[in-house]
Amino acid sequence: MHSDVVLVPASRLMEGAGVVVHRTIGTPALRTLDPFLMLDHFNTTRPGDYIAGFPDHPHRGFSTLTYLIEGHMLHRDSLGHEGDLVTGGAQWMKAARGVIHSEMPQQTEGRMSGFQLWVNLPAREKLSNPDYQEILPDQMALLPLPDGEIRLIAGSWPASGGETKGPSLDPHTQLVCADITLHPGGSLEIPASLLAGRSAFAFLISGGARVSGSDLALETLAVLATGDPSPPSRSIISGAEGARIFFASGTPLKEPVAAYGPFVMTTKAQIEQAIDDYRNGRLTR
Ligand code: MN
Repeated sequence: MHSDVVLVPASRLMEGAGVVVHRTIGTPALRTLDPFLMLDHFNTTRPGDYIAGFPDHPHRGFSTLTYLIEGHMLHRDSLGHEGDLVTGGAQWMKAARGVIHSEMPQQTEGRMSGFQLWVNLPAREKLSNPDYQEILPDQMALLPLPDGEIRLIAGSWPASGGETKGPSLDPHTQLVCADITLHPGGSLEIPASLLAGRSAFAFLISGGARVSGSDLALETLAVLATGDPSPPSRSIISGAEGARIFFASGTPLKEPVAAYGPFVMTTKAQIEQAIDDYRNGRLTR
C-alpha cells in the first residue's frame, strides 16, 4: 500500500548557553510524536555553534537519549554520574523526578554532530527514581543487512535469524533506536512490528534516500508511523551516494502532556510543582 510520508522541516534554534540545534519534534509543525517529545539534531564544524555547551540545567518527567555521531562531550549530573561521550557513543538518562546536569563539549575545534531525543515517561513513572546509562561505541549491537548495516542503540530489531538486541532498553515505550547505513542503491523494509501501533520516524544524516515515494531531505524528519494498528509498509531506498539514517520507533503512551521547558508532566499543577521544587532546591531530592 502506498501512502504519503509526512515531512517536517527543522526549526533552527539556540539551546543551552548558545548551541545551534535543528529541532523537528517539539515545534509548532509537530508538537509531539507520542511518545517522542523532542528531537534536536546538532551538526556543525563551527566551534561558535557548540562551544558554550549546556551548563547545569534541570529535567523532570521524561528520559533523554543522546547519540553522538562525531565529537566529544562530558556529562555530569546531580546523581554523581560522569559520562564521557565520544564519537559513536550514547547516553540514556531517565530524569524521572529530577536530574540537574551539564553537557559540555570537550573539544575546541572539529565537527560536533549528533541527536538528542526526549522520550516521555508514563504518568506513574514521572516521579520515580532517576537513572543513567552510558553506552560506549563498542557496546552498540551491529546487524548486517543485505545492503548495509544497522547500528542498534536501543531496543530490539527483528530479523530473519531472530532479534538483535541493542545495549539499552526503555520498558515503557519499547524504544527502538538505530543508526542505519545503506550502500548506494540499497533498500531496507522497516519490520512491520516497528510500525504497527507505534510512532516511528527517519532522519537523513547523510547521502540520499526515498521512503514511500518521498525524497528524504537533510534537516527534515520523515514521520513513518503514528500509532495506527495497521499502518502502510515503509521501505527506505538509498540513492547513488548511499544513505545514513537515524531511525526511532516507540509505543505511544496516550496520556496528556503538560510541558514547560525542561519539565514534562501530565498536568499544569505538576509543572508548577516542578518549577517550585527546582527553585527551592527540591527537584533532585
Ligand atoms: Mn539536558
